[in-house]
Amino acid sequence: MATKKVKDHAKKILKDIFGYDVFRPMQEEIIHSLLDGKDAFVLMPTGGGKSMCYQIPSIMREGTGIIVSPLISLMKDQVDALKRCGVNAAYYNSSLKMAESKDILDRFEAGELDLLYVAPERLLTKAFLKRLETIKVSLIAVDEAHCVSQWGHDFRPEYVRLGELRDIMPDVPMIALTATADEHTREDIAERLKLTKAKRFISSFDRPNIRYLIAEKRQPLTQVLQFLEDWKDSSGIIYCLSRKRVEDMAVNLQRHGIRAAAYHAGMPGRSRDRVQDDFLRDRVKVIVATIAFGMGVDKPNVRFVIHHDLPKSIESYYQETGRAGRDGLESEALMLYGSGDVNLVRRLIENVENIEQRRVEVHKLNSMVALAEALTCRRRVLLGYFGENMEDACDNCDICLDPPETFDASELASLAVKTVKSVKGDFGVGYVVDVLRGSKNARIKEHHHDRLKVHGAGKDINGDEWLSIMRQLIHRGYFSQDISKRAALRMTKKATDLLKGETVILAKYKPGIKRKLRRFSQARDAVLLKKLEALREKLADKEDVAPYSLVSDVALTEMSVLTGKVGLDDLALISGMGKHKLDEYGEAFVEVLNAHADSSASQKQQGSNIPKLMAKGPAPNDSQSHTWSLYKRGHTVVEIAAMEGISEKTVMNHFIALIRAAMHIEVPKLIEDFEQLMLELDEADPYASLTEIKRDLSVQLTNEEFRLVLAWREAIGVN
Ligand code: ADP
Ligand code: ZN
Repeated sequence: MATKKVKDHAKKILKDIFGYDVFRPMQEEIIHSLLDGKDAFVLMPTGGGKSMCYQIPSIMREGTGIIVSPLISLMKDQVDALKRCGVNAAYYNSSLKMAESKDILDRFEAGELDLLYVAPERLLTKAFLKRLETIKVSLIAVDEAHCVSQWGHDFRPEYVRLGELRDIMPDVPMIALTATADEHTREDIAERLKLTKAKRFISSFDRPNIRYLIAEKRQPLTQVLQFLEDWKDSSGIIYCLSRKRVEDMAVNLQRHGIRAAAYHAGMPGRSRDRVQDDFLRDRVKVIVATIAFGMGVDKPNVRFVIHHDLPKSIESYYQETGRAGRDGLESEALMLYGSGDVNLVRRLIENVENIEQRRVEVHKLNSMVALAEALTCRRRVLLGYFGENMEDACDNCDICLDPPETFDASELASLAVKTVKSVKGDFGVGYVVDVLRGSKNARIKEHHHDRLKVHGAGKDINGDEWLSIMRQLIHRGYFSQDISKRAALRMTKKATDLLKGETVILAKYKPGIKRKLRRFSQARDAVLLKKLEALREKLADKEDVAPYSLVSDVALTEMSVLTGKVGLDDLALISGMGKHKLDEYGEAFVEVLNAHADSSASQKQQGSNIPKLMAKGPAPNDSQSHTWSLYKRGHTVVEIAAMEGISEKTVMNHFIALIRAAMHIEVPKLIEDFEQLMLELDEADPYASLTEIKRDLSVQLTNEEFRLVLAWREAIGVN
């Protein structure tokens, strides 16, 4: 077992080299297990911090850690990042010139390297394996291990032989890592890599900092533009189904002054590389892409992912949305959902020859549709699909933030069924709605449908609402659409039951994207953040690297809430500022921070009306203190939850404890309509129970929010 001394050493490396205070969930156990010489199979979502799990043991154990990684560009990024932290790392792949290769192998043999990243096809050559006989290897890590499985989403034939490693080096601990959430693929990976007996470390696949939004597709361009308004100057990816749509969207965005570029498989390799590079360097902000884009792009500060069209399965939706927010900062995933897309995909599936495969695809599509149609928490449906149960609703998806109103649609539904029944023939949704609304267009007259009893029977309901009702009825299986007859509506058996008086509850139609944003955010100094970003860009340009790779967005955010004069020791507390980076860039940032402090000090008088808090409870424990330090650095509730691997509820509970310990959580900024709330609480009936008081408030609060407000009032001495 790893001794306390060893454990402390691991923590010290985390802080001194990487600049982080605490391990993320599972990292520490995984590291200890490798230090003990045991194999590990790590299943952790994107952004969970997998790299640290093999980097720290490679640095600590005698010998060199060999990291197998699928993509040349990613290897280079990782090695550059490590070097910037002062770690001896190198990569060995086909991009190197002869002389460089030789130099790296010499250093490897001399035992100078802590980590060597190797492409799989190089690793398994006779010559390389021969060398390994005389060199001390500390561990072998197989990154992106799903590449070994044909079931996965990125099979790579070069990975297949990696299973041999277990036999070639039986005494070297091996670790495989993947972000694959799908059970079937996981088993396959373990088998192929001969890691069935390895200890498994499975963390939750929830990505709490990603807010899931699914909106009915109406006018996609307008919807996308509206959405982008809230993410000005942020990086994001928009996925479209076809090359044509990709190109159209990119041009449209450019016309609206957005720095967007198209990316799809039909473009020449060179232009694709350039687009990708521009994106990494923040020269292009929005990439419009077919699914070809993503693998090989590890940009941690992607703030949003939009699905303009329906993804083909929940797995792909999860993978693609997962490219947002790897750094743990608040991010959004928006999907535009239209029944036209569903039909399109259905049609594609009908062309699949193999019956078994077709069945699988239909199932996948149906699950995707069910997610989009769900009236319950999106995250619950998503994680449920991967077999993970969620205790509470997430409070960070469109459904939780703004629960859909439902209504009894029984009468309207049966009217719709009657209409479909009486028009007889091949008519689609649009036509049926026209009949219901009493339109007298040529086609209706031609079929004499203006003489039907149902003609105009639904004219009190507008067209959009009718479309929404029809769409929901289709998805609930009352109607099917005959794809071979231009999506003509057909009644199902369920529809007949409906005519017998069954109750149907549907969601009320709401135009626009639902996103009452409750950002829980601390006021960040936006001006300062801009200045810091500008400095980072300048430094990155000088070194010709991507800005995020110098100093992360997390670090910049944390710096932007520093107030007053700062020194290098203040910067040492910033997340990700290890010793090496502090030496390189510390001074430059301190300079900008202090110049800003000078200019703003003259503008505002400080410390004016901050109320003094009185301690009403015990001093905070370790995890509460950790929450406090993240809060002080400007992180939101969502971010803190993601960073600590706890629920938002727990974070709120920490806040409550912190306030009770007289620590200054700025509650007025966390709660919407705070002033109004305070007034109502002042006037509340002193004899009413808390439940009654809460129920009568005009502002809706969660239990935690309510307790937070009460703790605040207690601490400032009202009530
Ligand atoms: P993954 O490979 O699982 O997608 P990474 O290893 O790239 O994730 O880590 C994601 C981000 O989290 C990186 O910016 C990394 O530096 C950061 N990170 C990793 N471990 C920690 C930690 N213990 N504390 C703070 N940040 C961390
Ligand atoms: Zn939710």
